[in-house]
Parts: sequence; C-alpha cells; structure tokens
Amino acid sequence: MITELSSTGSFRQYLHSLYEDVACFIFPPYCIICKTSLEDGKQSVCSQCLEDIMREIKGTDPYCPVCEKQYPDIFDRCRRCSGRNSPGKLYALVPMTPHIREYLHAYKYFGRLEIAEDFARRAFEMYNDAEFVQQIDVIVPVPLHRRKRLQRGYNQAEVFACHLSELFGTPLANNSLKRIKHTKSQTYLNAKQRFENVKGVFRIIDGKQIRNKRVLLVDDIVTTGATLYECSRTLKKAGATTVVSFTIGRPVIKD
Ligand SMILES: [Zn+2]
Ligand SMILES: [Zn+2]
Repeated sequence: MITELSSTGSFRQYLHSLYEDVACFIFPPYCIICKTSLEDGKQSVCSQCLEDIMREIKGTDPYCPVCEKQYPDIFDRCRRCSGRNSPGKLYALVPMTPHIREYLHAYKYFGRLEIAEDFARRAFEMYNDAEFVQQIDVIVPVPLHRRKRLQRGYNQAEVFACHLSELFGTPLANNSLKRIKHTKSQTYLNAKQRFENVKGVFRIIDGKQIRNKRVLLVDDIVTTGATLYECSRTLKKAGATTVVSFTIGRPVIKD
C-alpha cells in the first residue's frame, strides 16, 4: 500500500515538473506580482517586487493570533486574552497584503520552494541573536496529513523549517509530530469552526524528541492560530517545556 502511494506521489511530481516545463515553454516566465517578463523561471517575482516584499518584514514583538495584537516580548503569554486558545508567543514575518498572499500562494500550492529560502534568510538576519532563538532545542514543522503531502509533493511548513534549522544550527524534528486525521481545508471556516476542525488531529510519535525540550513550532501562514494552538497543546502534553511559534505570513493587524 505504502509503495503504491509513493509511486503515485513520484508520478505526480513527474507530472508536476513536466507541467512546469510545458508552462515555461508556452508562457514566458513573468513576475507573479507586477507581471513584467523575467529572464528565466528561477524566481517567481522580479528583483524589484522581491525587494518590496522583503522590506515589509520588520522585527516585531510577538503576535497574538487570537486577539490580533502584538505584546511585549517579556511576557510568555498574551495578557489581553489571557492566552485563552492562543498558541502563546508567535513571531510572524509579514502581514498578508494582497501581493504577499499571492507570493505565498505560489509557495504553498505551486512548488515555488525558493520563496521559503528568501524568508528564512531574512529571519536569520533578524532573529539569530534574539533570546528566544538562543533558547530553542528543537524545530518542529506543522505536519500535513500523509495523503496531502503525497498529493502536493512537499510540506511547505517543513521546507521553511528545514531552512531555519540549517541557518540557526538547531535540530529539526520533522517526524515527532504527526497529523493523524485528514481534515477539510480551514479556508472557508470561521474561527470557532477552525478550532473544532483541528481538535485532536495531531499526535506525538517520538516523545523523546519533545520531552523537556524548548520547541520552535513552524508554519507558513497563521490565520486564527487554531492549528498552532492545537499543535502546541499536543507538544506541551508530551512534555515540551515551552513552545514558541514562527510563521512567514500573518493577517494584517488592525490597529
Ligand atoms: Zn515584479
Ligand atoms: Zn491575545
């Protein structure tokens, strides 16, 4: 069964790369944001748009996805909502403006994996000396269900986490947390439904990698924080001392 699924997965990857070749042949590569044509298909945006996106990244205090506020780094949990349903400390790199949404969409769904590396490098420049990074023992990506991972060919959270692990020199534990249920997409659910949808869908497989460890939990995008909350709850139940979350995108904070 596993072999069968794996070969389906690699066949999909083959089809995907074939599709990319054909697409590049039919449509000359162009910047997905400003639509100007590019010299080659190695990047999905032009250097000007990339510069604009990277400029949107600013070092900020941790962000609370539940009450949508930043709060001082010295607190472990958001004081405003008392950490209720909040995953706790979360650092997120960019607000999801329409352009950034499109850019991260290309990363998540269309295999533009180089995008994760650009953001990871910026994250390293900004946070390598930060206290919370110095205190991490292990990096854990938010897992995809096995079926979804095979369909897509990669887990976007894992790709980003992998770059962070390499740059920060912190071990990656990418098999310790598993998504045991295939859930419907969170996209069209409201906040309450999102929390219900992910309840109990994660399980710890290798407890040794988590017990008494300070974990950096990594995902590509945070919306309501439901997935991060459920993962951090699962990690803490398995004995993680602290769980700090890190994502590329977050909603635009309304002040
Ligand atoms: Zn452009
Ligand atoms: Zn809060």
